[in-house]
Amino acid sequence: MSQDFSRYEAVLLDLDGTVYFEDHPLPGSVDLIKRLQAENTKFACISNSTTSPQRVVKRLAGMGITVTPDQIYTAGAAAVDYVVKRFPNPRAFNLATEGVQDMLEGRGHWVQTDSEKCDAIIIGAPANRYADFERQRIALSLMRNGALAVGVCADRIYPSPRGWEFGSGALTLMLTYAANAKPVYCGKPEKVFFAELCRRLAVPPERCILIGDNLEADIWGAKQMGMATILTLTGVARPDDLKAIAADHRPDQVIQDLRDLI
Ligand SMILES: [Mg+2]
Repeated sequence: MSQDFSRYEAVLLDLDGTVYFEDHPLPGSVDLIKRLQAENTKFACISNSTTSPQRVVKRLAGMGITVTPDQIYTAGAAAVDYVVKRFPNPRAFNLATEGVQDMLEGRGHWVQTDSEKCDAIIIGAPANRYADFERQRIALSLMRNGALAVGVCADRIYPSPRGWEFGSGALTLMLTYAANAKPVYCGKPEKVFFAELCRRLAVPPERCILIGDNLEADIWGAKQMGMATILTLTGVARPDDLKAIAADHRPDQVIQDLRDLI
């Protein structure tokens, strides 16, 4: 039976492990998004990606999924939003991605050297040219001089075709440990991520339903905000994981894949 979304004002759809895996759409994802578009249901695709919504749009287009940048919210976008809100016209250092570089354009100033004044450092995953060793060294120095460490997300690792890679959380902790500083994080499951997304969508959190594959980042993040939740078993969560979790962390519904909703 097809899922009735009419009780909700917006559907939040996780990307990695829910909509796609590497460069392939997962079963039902293309059709589910087409259905939401045909029914005029407000939706947003969400991701702990360190890049920009514009770049994710291109990636989705390659899988036959057509969405607009305002229908995507990434942890990278959340980190830039956080910095701009906390430090109007911020002086920031980019230890993340090209996407982050694009997003601060016209909203702040990029610090280039460790002799400049810096409000915040946006920290992504180390496998990026904006986060190479020389830039990590500049970031450490800026942090020791008081710049705030803004981790794009707290993810320890992420999968790539080569295997597991160090995540933003790993690099953020390495730097803040060295600088004896305390980081803030902006991706899922942080409240700041979901709160800013709901503000952009103009919907109250308790009128949203989230569909995701990660019990911590997606399901717990959404539950903290009072959202309804559906766990899909196409990504990181395994059926056995559900046995071990506390009742207040449990998803409202569990599906095999997105075909169960259409
Ligand atoms: Mg996911």
